[in-house]
Amino acid sequence: MRIAVLSGKGGAGKTLVSVNLAALSPGSTYVDCDVEGPNGHLFFKPEDSVEEGVAVGVPVVDPDRCDGCRKCVEFCRFNALAHVGGKLRVFEEVCHSCGGCMMVCPRKAISEGEKAIGTIRKGTSGDVAVWSGFLNPGEPSGVPIIDALLGGLEGDGTVFVDSPPGSACVVMESIKDADYCVLVAEPTLFGTHNLAMVHELVETFGKPFGVVLNKDQGGRNPAEEYCAENGLTILGRIPFDAELARITSDAGIAVNEGGRFREMFSGLLENVMGAVQ
Ligand code: SF4
Ligand code: SF4
Repeated sequence: MRIAVLSGKGGAGKTLVSVNLAALSPGSTYVDCDVEGPNGHLFFKPEDSVEEGVAVGVPVVDPDRCDGCRKCVEFCRFNALAHVGGKLRVFEEVCHSCGGCMMVCPRKAISEGEKAIGTIRKGTSGDVAVWSGFLNPGEPSGVPIIDALLGGLEGDGTVFVDSPPGSACVVMESIKDADYCVLVAEPTLFGTHNLAMVHELVETFGKPFGVVLNKDQGGRNPAEEYCAENGLTILGRIPFDAELARITSDAGIAVNEGGRFREMFSGLLENVMGAVQ
């Protein structure tokens, strides 16, 4: 069973929710797909991590074969190729590894090389497997890293996917095989706008989902009003709580402290599992 936790922006609490739900689920796997800013490992502090590189294909030009016809330049939608000064130049930083230039070159002057774009790390923290993806700075897309992470999952254990923020293609990649989505929302108008973005996304993908209201202060909550207006299921509330903020800023996992936080996240986990069935 794969549960994706997402929010329309960073800092809304999706890592807080996914880390604590995974920590409450022995035998589960926590997968940090927020590859531009992964931080779940800071909480889990996994041991025995094994690192693997992730690379993508990039064009390599044989200047002896290239006659400068520019067919590849015209083909590339990403402006990753230019023929200047009698030479074909490749701008790897904007290449999307589609492989099209290799196919259209009439002189077979382009072959496929490899460029490292990041790494994945797999370790364990107690009974939880902790997998994280790291995209190298400046790389255009984290999709291949997310593919490498999620493509490596085996078995039918519970997986908590900590999705990237927003609703771009990396988020779509992280939820495409999810059985259920948990949307984390802040109690502000901006937070409600971001909730609406991810709501639209999960509806587009036809995913079952529910909402967690984070930083709830008990007063008026525009995100809660949005849920009521649109008939969205509220799975639980996490209060705005100085002690919870302290534990989190110290890179602690709240459920491991026991007490009211363990009880609160256990209730949330029960609601999520009940909704998934
Ligand atoms: S299509 Fe082939 S031959 Fe033509 S410019 Fe590109 S690499 Fe050179
Ligand atoms: S692989 Fe695709 S994106 Fe990259 S240079 Fe070739 S045509 Fe452009």
